[in-house]
This record gives sequence, structure tokens and C-alpha cells, in this order.
Amino acid sequence: MIKVTCLGAAGSVTGSNYLIENSQGKKVLVDCGLFQGGKQIELRNWQEWGFNPTQINTLFLTHAHIDHSGRIPKLVKDGFRGRIITSPPTAQLCRIMLLDSAHVQEMDAEWQTRKDRRKGKKEVRPLYTTKDAAESLQYLSPMERDQIITVEPGIRARLRNAGHILGSSIVELWIEEANEETKIVFSGDLGKQDQLIVKDPYEIFAADYLFIESTYGNRMHRPFEDSKKELLEAVLYALSHKEKIIIPAFALERTQEILYLLGEFYRDKTLPDIPVYLDSPLAIQATEIFRKNKKYYDEQARAIVDQGFDPFDMPNLHFTPTTEESIAINEKSGSAIIIAASGMCTAGRIKHHLKHNLWRPGASIIIVGFQAQGTTGRKIVDGAKQVKIFREDVAVKAKVFTIGGFSAHADQKDLLEWVSHFTESRPRVFVVHGEATASEALATMIREKFGMYVHVPKWKEGLILKAREVVREEIPAKVAPMDISQTILSKVIDLEHEIERLKKRLKKKDEVTTITEEDVNRLEYIQEELQGILPE
Ligand SMILES: [Zn+2]
Repeated sequence: MIKVTCLGAAGSVTGSNYLIENSQGKKVLVDCGLFQGGKQIELRNWQEWGFNPTQINTLFLTHAHIDHSGRIPKLVKDGFRGRIITSPPTAQLCRIMLLDSAHVQEMDAEWQTRKDRRKGKKEVRPLYTTKDAAESLQYLSPMERDQIITVEPGIRARLRNAGHILGSSIVELWIEEANEETKIVFSGDLGKQDQLIVKDPYEIFAADYLFIESTYGNRMHRPFEDSKKELLEAVLYALSHKEKIIIPAFALERTQEILYLLGEFYRDKTLPDIPVYLDSPLAIQATEIFRKNKKYYDEQARAIVDQGFDPFDMPNLHFTPTTEESIAINEKSGSAIIIAASGMCTAGRIKHHLKHNLWRPGASIIIVGFQAQGTTGRKIVDGAKQVKIFREDVAVKAKVFTIGGFSAHADQKDLLEWVSHFTESRPRVFVVHGEATASEALATMIREKFGMYVHVPKWKEGLILKAREVVREEIPAKVAPMDISQTILSKVIDLEHEIERLKKRLKKKDEVTTITEEDVNRLEYIQEELQGILPE
């Protein structure tokens, strides 16, 4: 009997955390994210885990976004000493993201303490400190995707590209009990088709149980090409007025996508040579990590590299890590593009740039990301005549461009397309990581379109999964030429694993009699698969 408990990102989009237990009581985790989005939900970060962190040997981390990784320092602080298995880029990005998150926790606690002191209340402690975060990094255990590893007796796993942000992964888990194997797939956050920089999500064909995200389960993105055109128009508008162009952007992925597009405009000569400032220490570090991980780029980004360019560079790009450099930007007149965080204009250097430019007719503010209710960014998008920045009322006279097509998430169409590959294996589907309406909408579509069993679990809901007959993975009907070597490699690894497994059993005398025709079939099956994908 296998049990999966949804301890986060069930009925909501943050706090991703799933506990998987087998009959022997072995436990593994998928993701350990921070709950975000208001006081009420953030209280959950302080609650009991629902398991004992000292008893967990393995945490699979799908990607570096804080809503998937942000409670790792707390997990380690509470006794976790196992391995955090994740892709190499995710491990690198986590190093900067977790330290930054700890810094934010500390600042918030300090601010709250100062506020509470006047009311005679006690000091507020952060959820974790920078020291806790630094300590937790030693448990990151980077592993290339597409290889199967055994993490506990009877528990195997493999990471696959999820196409959401650099290094993002899907988790495939195989749990063997009483000679039956159950395969569970956790989608993590899935990217959309043709997303910049990263390859499209890996198509998986077999599963007994599928946990799928539903962030955009009820929505469709606007066409990306339109958004790209809008970005260029918005930049050219402020350029013609000789004013600044302010782009609030999340430090991870969105910033690199914007740099990527500006670089493309520049190479196409549609963008004149104007200064571009990346004014966020975290975004600068993240961009450096993107530059170091070229082997994870998609075909288009690789092509730019092969032509001798850096996809995230242009001649007039300036990184401004220090405060002095940041201040100096606003002392210069004339047009310039300034990319700064936070993405929703609630903190960070973006506030300074808005203060200096929001009131200038001719300047432009380009909103390229989601703006939550109540944030300064949302007020600007909703057409506020003035907003409060550093306790000052600032008039909104700049032209505001809201560009909606830059999401790093699969939309409803993409999600259904990804699920369509499972129609033969017909897994039982659990829809998670979405607001209730989004999850329910996707659940209904999956039921109607594919006739699968679908359930939307609630927060803390435990699900008992019974082993089913194993459905073997099918080969994709058409393998694109660039994927062949990777597909072969993964099949060779499968084969090696099978041989290893058989060898071990053959070594144990009493096991020899239990080698069955099924075992031989498995080997033959992989061999056939290999023959099927080898080019003629
Ligand atoms: Zn994400």
C-alpha cells in the first residue's frame, strides 16, 4: 500500500509539498515550498510538517521557485539530513534563491518586531535565518535528468525536463511492493509550448497515478508573438520621448526572457543601441547561472550561441549590483531600459525607479508578469491615478503597458496536450497546484476529454494508492532527430538497470527460481524499444 499526502499546493498554488510512503514506512518527499500570498496562508509555514523530518532520506526538488523550494532551510533546521535530489541548474539557482529568501524572512521579522515593540509585544523571529539557509545548501544533491536511480529499497526515481524554468523537472517514481510496481508521476510546474530558453516539457506516456499542476487550468495565454511585438512597441514609445523604460520583473526566468528578447531585437536591428540596466543583485546572479548552463538551452537558444552570441547580452547592457551604481542610473538623462525586481513592485530597487519615473509623461512602465491583488503593480495595471511609494503619493503619468503572454506556465491547452500522452496507460489523475476554480476546470476537462478518473485533493488529504498492473512506457510515435541520442541514452540506462536488477537476484540462490518469463520479457522489451528508435 502506498500513501501520498498532499501537504502543500493542494487547493492553492503555493507551499508545494507531497509525502509519499510505502508499506515498509519508507518516506520520500516531492518539493518543500513556501506558502505565499498573504498572512492567512503564510501561517501554514509555521505549522507542524505532518511527518518527522529526521525520518526522511530523500527530497525530490522539481525547481528553484520559492513556492517549491522555500521551506528547505526550515526542513533542515527541523532535522532533515537526507539528500535533496534535483537537476544541476536547480541546485545552483537554489543557492541564491534560498539565501535571498532567508534575507527576506529576516527583514520581515525585523520590521514586524519594530512595529510590535511599540505595542509592547515580544520580538518576532524569522522562519529561518541566512545561517539556516546556508547550512541547508550542503544537502543539495544535483543529478542529471533522464537517469533512473534507486533511493530506497524498492523506490526508484527519474527526473525529466518540465520546460518551466531552467532546470525544472518532472518526477517519475516507481514503488515496488510484493513484486508489483506502481508508477507515480509528479508534473511539477509545466512550461508552455515553445517557451523561450528551455526545451518543451518531456512527454511521458505511462503512469499508474499522475499528479498534475493546474495553475492555468482554466485559462489560455495570449499568443506569444503578439506579446513580443507589444514589448518592442512599448520600448520604442518611451525611446521616442527620450524617457526611461521601467520593467519590473521577477529575478528568475522572466528577467532572462526579457534580456533574451531585447538581445534578439538588437540583433535584428529593430532596437537601437540604448543602455539596458539589469538593476537587481539576485537577477544578475541568476543570469550568470543561465549563462553557465548552455547545455540545458533549447534549440533556438543554442542556435544563438552557435552564431557566437550570448542570448542574454547586448553591447550596451550594464549590470548594477551595488547601491551606488543603482542610484547613478537615475542621475543620467535620456532613454534607458531598466529591469529591476520585485516583479510586483512591492519591494526592492524597482520602487526607486518608479518613484523617479512614474510621474513623467513619456516614460513607460512595462508589466510583464502576474500582479497579485493589493500590490503596487496591480494598482498600476488597474489604472490608478496615483500610488504610494515610500509613503509618498506619486502620480501615474507614464504610459503603462500590460503584456500578458510571458507566462512560464502551461495553459489549459498545453496541460491537456501533455495529459493526452497518457491515454493508453490511463492513470488515475490528481489535480493539484491551482486555485480551486482552476483545478476543478482542468479536472472536468480531463474527465470529459479522456474519460480518466480525476480527483482534486484538498490540503492535507491522504490518498491510498493500490498497485496496478504495470503499463510499460510506449515509444513516442515520432522521435525528433535531436532527441534520439537522449532517448537512446535513457533506454540504455533502463536496460542497465534491468540487467543490474537481474544480476542481483541471480546472485541470491533462493531468488533464482523466482526469475520469470516476465523478467525476460522486460529485457526484450527494452531491447525492442532500442531497435525501434535507432535510425535506419
Ligand atoms: Zn514555478
